[in-house]
Amino acid sequence: MADKRVMTMKPRKIPQRKCVACQQMMGKKELIRVVKTPDDQILIDLTGKKSGRGAYLCGKQSCFKLAKKSKALDRALKHGVSAEIYDQLERDFVKVEDEFLAAKEAMDDDE
Ligand SMILES: [Zn+2]
Repeated sequence: MADKRVMTMKPRKIPQRKCVACQQMMGKKELIRVVKTPDDQILIDLTGKKSGRGAYLCGKQSCFKLAKKSKALDRALKHGVSAEIYDQLERDFVKVEDEFLAAKEAMDDDE
């Protein structure tokens, strides 16, 4: 594995995105992106680089549960999200949460 260091480039304007569950505006790195790919797959995109329509959630399980309950992702992605997909996303969400928080902490350290 190559030593992939996080670039220390810091743009002054932090793009703000809204969590689809709690409607809070936050910097992009505070949020987890869920993307609907052009072939209609719905998945978590930690890189933020996948193409497709994106929806953002803050990295909190409580927000994911809220999104599931209110079908916020259906609305944000303009696509029906089945219960199975929500379940799958929830499992992935739990998995990426640690990674996400660790990355966030690493970034905070840098500031
Ligand atoms: Zn939220």
